[in-house]
Amino acid sequence: MEFKIKKILFSEEEIAARVKELGEQITKDYAGKEVTLLCVLKGSLIFTADLARRIDLPVQIDVCKAKSYAGSSTTGSVNLASLPEYLADKHIIIVEDILDTGLTLASLKNAIEEKKPASLKICTFLYKKDSVRSNIVPDYYGLICPQEFVVGYGLDYNEEMRQLPYVAALEV
Ligand code: 5GP
Repeated sequence: MEFKIKKILFSEEEIAARVKELGEQITKDYAGKEVTLLCVLKGSLIFTADLARRIDLPVQIDVCKAKSYAGSSTTGSVNLASLPEYLADKHIIIVEDILDTGLTLASLKNAIEEKKPASLKICTFLYKKDSVRSNIVPDYYGLICPQEFVVGYGLDYNEEMRQLPYVAALEV
């Protein structure tokens, strides 16, 4: 497939430093508790793996699936599948790759709230602050992302480029 990287926005080192800070913040905020990281597949796989290893608390990891993009444009619809059943009474942190319109997270948040967790917070790696079209505000975010289509560190273009260790803007 033809694609071209326009610009590296966040380097591997910058990402690692920020993920470490997030882990330290979560460790502080949840002191004495066990947290459940709910990884939203597939984009936040890599972020979740790195974040989990920066949290110095008992951590459980679970996964769920939500997809609202095809190629580089939003389809406007969200398919929620396979939400874990046993979220009740747990301290859940939804771990997302990028908060764009917020529509994905709004649906997920509602669905998880129905499972009656002890608490529910949102941690997104990238935050496209200017495009949010819902009332979703992340409790934690890694880096503010410009209004570009980005790939790498878990984020794909048609399932490719998730493995890039940095985040780059793509020419589309
Ligand atoms: P939202 O529902 O917030 O508009 O979209 C969130 C989802 O859209 C993300 O989890 C991600 O899968 C996808 N998405 C939004 N912006 C980008 C982007 O710049 N690059 C990639 N690869 N995916 C994006």
